[in-house]
Amino acid sequence: MLTRALLLRVAGPSLLMSLVFLVSCAAAAMYLSRRQAATVRSLDDSLRSRRIVDDLLGDLDALVVIALDGSGGDGASGLHEHFRGLLDESRRNLQGADEARLVDRLEAGFAQYLASTAAPGRAGLAILETEIRAAARELDLESARETARAQAAMHRTASWMVWGLAGVGAAATAAGLLIGYGVVRGLERMVIQAEQMAGVGQIAAGMAHELRNPLTAISMLVQLQREKAQEGGLPAEDLQVIEQEIGRMEERLNAFLDFARPARPRWRLVDLVETTAQTLALMQGRASKQRVDLKFHSPAAPVLVEADAEQIGRVLINLGLNALDAMPRGGRLDVELEQEPDGSVELTVNDTGPGVDPKHLLRLFEPFFTSKEAGLGLGLPISQRIARDHGGSLHAVNRPEGGAAFILRLPAVARAARPV
Ligand code: ADP
Repeated sequence: MLTRALLLRVAGPSLLMSLVFLVSCAAAAMYLSRRQAATVRSLDDSLRSRRIVDDLLGDLDALVVIALDGSGGDGASGLHEHFRGLLDESRRNLQGADEARLVDRLEAGFAQYLASTAAPGRAGLAILETEIRAAARELDLESARETARAQAAMHRTASWMVWGLAGVGAAATAAGLLIGYGVVRGLERMVIQAEQMAGVGQIAAGMAHELRNPLTAISMLVQLQREKAQEGGLPAEDLQVIEQEIGRMEERLNAFLDFARPARPRWRLVDLVETTAQTLALMQGRASKQRVDLKFHSPAAPVLVEADAEQIGRVLINLGLNALDAMPRGGRLDVELEQEPDGSVELTVNDTGPGVDPKHLLRLFEPFFTSKEAGLGLGLPISQRIARDHGGSLHAVNRPEGGAAFILRLPAVARAARPV
């Protein structure tokens, strides 16, 4: 279930990143649109000034024809007015200092020309052809340059837009990947923490449960003694109970520690025939007492594995004692050791007890799972961990002929897991 904190941790960074992204995209879009509008405006202006220059040059040609003709008159004054109007329009549409200077020159030339028309002769023609035409040509060139500049600026803005769009796409993809990676890492850490916490909680609960009973027994005895303090020391039976309970607590604490902090295997080349025989010998006494027929079926040759003999011995003791627990009224305990052609080894502990209750089969290796009144439920989890530390496995089956079988598999020497 997603808690609010988890949701905040997962969704928070992505929301923040998206917001930052949105704001930067909006700012970039605004900047580009302003730039685009400005370049369009300056292109319009430069095109307009080109049109005016074209008209000025047209008027100039007509004025030259009139001056050559020497007629003057009505046509000339209309043309003069038109020319004047074009100069005014030019002034309103100026594109920088160069154009202003040229329009000044045109106006001065035009004024000179108008003054010359008062007197007869060809002075006006000379002014038109030299001063005014030169200035008009320069203005034409200048406005052509301005148009080219405006077009280049427009292309630049367009290519900025393309790059901007590609940048936004790439940044969005990268941000998505980054956020995804961050979220997955965060979740992973949280899951690991949650698992660790659950493990710690489980061990603490099991430990509290296991230590509470002996502690209650001890404290009851001590309390009782305090109430009748005048009678002297504790009776021998009570002291024995206290000693037993303390022993039980010690044993349980050691099992907890084994489970919580397993020792690293000390690797040696081990003959499993020898290790198994020695370990089973330790259980022979209890087996005989319970009328359990204990047999070891081993190959004639040594079975060599790379292992920690002490840890393998502990697995065997756990499995053997469980088998004996399952056969309180006698039975058969058969331990079989076989080496496969590939060098791997199978050690099976078979009993003739009632077998494992099918509904318990999946839970046998869970820490603290026990069906016994005084059981701790750590023998099988510890044994399975040892098997895995050796690169092998441990699992349980119910035998078709009755009873349970626990199978320990260990890899061949070359494949055995070795710590670095
Ligand atoms: P414990 O012996 O303290 O209960 P284990 O982890 O060694 O803890 O065993 C867990 C449970 O597995 C036992 O309580 C029992 O129910 C079951 N079990 C283990 N070995 C056998 C077996 N040979 N036959 C039947 N049940 C078994």
